[in-house]
Amino acid sequence: MTTAETATPAVPFAFFALKVARTRRLGPSLVRVTFTGATDEGLEGFASGGRDQSLSLFLPHPGQPEPVMPPVVDGDLYGALGAWRAMPEDVRAVMRSYTVREQRRAGDGTAEVDIDFALHEDGGPACRWAAQAGPGDRVAVLGPVVADNTGVRFRLPEDADEVLIWGDETALPAASAILESLPAGTRARVWLEVPYAADRLELETRADATVTWLVREEGAPAAVDAVRAAELSGTAPYAWIAGEAGSVKALRRHLVNERGIDRRRVTFVGYWRKGLSEDALREVPDTTEDES
Ligand SMILES: Cc1cc2nc3c(=O)[nH]c(=O)nc-3n(C[C@H](O)[C@H](O)[C@H](O)COP(=O)(O)OP(=O)(O)OC[C@H]3O[C@@H](n4cnc5c(N)ncnc54)[C@H](O)[C@@H]3O)c2cc1C
Repeated sequence: MTTAETATPAVPFAFFALKVARTRRLGPSLVRVTFTGATDEGLEGFASGGRDQSLSLFLPHPGQPEPVMPPVVDGDLYGALGAWRAMPEDVRAVMRSYTVREQRRAGDGTAEVDIDFALHEDGGPACRWAAQAGPGDRVAVLGPVVADNTGVRFRLPEDADEVLIWGDETALPAASAILESLPAGTRARVWLEVPYAADRLELETRADATVTWLVREEGAPAAVDAVRAAELSGTAPYAWIAGEAGSVKALRRHLVNERGIDRRRVTFVGYWRKGLSEDALREVPDTTEDES
């Protein structure tokens, strides 16, 4: 290997062309899409950091055989993203944020990546694409090539004695992967909010985790009320909350203002906001942190 090949890349992300290998319905609101590389290079170099590793997914518009993307010239990702932005919206690929639920090698050695899509009634382009995805369908992703990258937000402090997790159906893939990553015996209090009882999934963890499913069709309390009602025992907690931006904001305020948790130990990400597409969300200021 040459030095250039072993050096850490300056930008820990790269574009990959993917195609759908298969899909599987996990419940009424979630579909798992398994991807492999669409070219001879396959997923060579793709390096998920696990936990809540996110990526940018680029999807074709209906009728397009593959997402329309500008070329990456001399490895210049920012240039390519600038060129993508400059293209007409109805031509350029639709960009959405998703989580790497799992990266693995299949039995025959093929590298695979799973993404779990929440299907929602408002039906944006990503939700519609996932609902109809089938083998061979093409997408592109801007994904990690270095496992320690900024797309992994869950950062467990060494001294944490209790982990608090809240996520809705869009954050269920991330929360599931986080639970799988927790060291044995870690005390974890977990609230997972889903539309239907049949959306509850089997979770795997070595942590000492207490999981509460908040099922909306069963009239579950609002996220903040469920968390407020819990007795927490940790003296050095770490919290990770992700999902609908309004719920995330209310939960963060509760944890920081009412529970007195150090704001630096609360990782929070608004994954979507009621009434706003992801394109619109990118245009408005982030208010998740306000007044806390
Ligand atoms: C870091 C990160 C990681 C994410 N990981 C995942 C993931 O692994 N799986 C996943 O499903 N989502 C994930 N999301 C959320 C996903 O990006 C959004 O839900 C996105 O808006 C879906 O795009 P869309 O084209 O379907 O809808 P958009 O065109 O963006 O929105 C159309 C309409 O649908 C509404 N909407 C969007 N999502 C939902 C929803 N879940 N329920 C109800 N209404 C909704 C919007 O408010 C809007 O009114 C993640 C977001 C971030 C920021």
